[in-house]
Amino acid sequence: KRLVSGLSKTRDNIVFGMDSIFHGFTQINDDFYEELEETLIMGDLGVRTTMEIIENLKEKVRSEHIKEPAQCRQLLIDSIREQMHVGETAYEFENRTSVVFVIGVNGVGKTTTIGKLAGKLHAQGKKVVLAAADTFRAAAGEQLKEWANRSETEMIGGQEGADPASVVYDAVAAAKARKADVLLCDTAGRLHNKKNLMEELKKINRVIEREYPEAYRETLVVLDATTGQNALAQAKEFNEVAEITGVILTKMDGTAKGGIAVAIQSELGIPVKYIGVGERIEDLQKFDADEFVNALFY
Ligand code: GDP
Repeated sequence: KRLVSGLSKTRDNIVFGMDSIFHGFTQINDDFYEELEETLIMGDLGVRTTMEIIENLKEKVRSEHIKEPAQCRQLLIDSIREQMHVGETAYEFENRTSVVFVIGVNGVGKTTTIGKLAGKLHAQGKKVVLAAADTFRAAAGEQLKEWANRSETEMIGGQEGADPASVVYDAVAAAKARKADVLLCDTAGRLHNKKNLMEELKKINRVIEREYPEAYRETLVVLDATTGQNALAQAKEFNEVAEITGVILTKMDGTAKGGIAVAIQSELGIPVKYIGVGERIEDLQKFDADEFVNALFY
């Protein structure tokens, strides 16, 4: 229910336009497809993904000899579902000793998301250690510390400007000593200096490889859904720098741009693992493409 309410604006944005097309047209023609295309692009599904969905729909219409526009509704939903490669998401780090790097540019909600994730894992009975390895940003560590308190988890930090790899080194030692299940690392998100960011992440990775080889590794990128296509562009850029294993889309509440989740999974083949639907600690939900499509269209 919460998922549905969190997505109400996205739903209005995509579904109202779509249904008016299904009801407004009496036959399936080029104009019909063009209007559907426009609606999906306006719904932030991205140009490339939209084209593929429409092609897929046309193919279904041909092969199933569909004549009525209204009959296309279900076919379109199926096409969107297929485009998202439903069923390929996994949450392995929740069930084994893991190190999770979280990256993302300032303001997307990275700190809040790490806090929420820590709270969620803690509530599952997991022992979580936080590493404040985003030492570039003033006050990032203090803000994370507040979330550590709120989620009842331990945080390891360093001085502002400290070497992030040394913070991670200390955090790994703490995680091992406490027999932690998950080490969540807040890492930098300086996309304007890709080379530095790449070097920094490599260095951190080397520390993990050497000091904590048994840990399962994930790299999650936090993106602000309200930025729509910009979020997709950021995901692509981060993917060039690091091996991204998942996306967390924040601020899905109150945005009409939630369709970006389709574009991200489709164009990048990277699963959206969680969505943020508010500012409170409990406002982080596991993302399931199937549920997402159901919440939007039914
Ligand atoms: P950071 O700079 O990336 O670490 O961003 P912060 O974690 O400081 O978050 C920036 C702002 O976004 C804060 O005001 C958060 O409360 C807000 N925020 C983060 N996630 C969400 C979300 O899912 N929904 C809403 N509505 N606000 C969010």
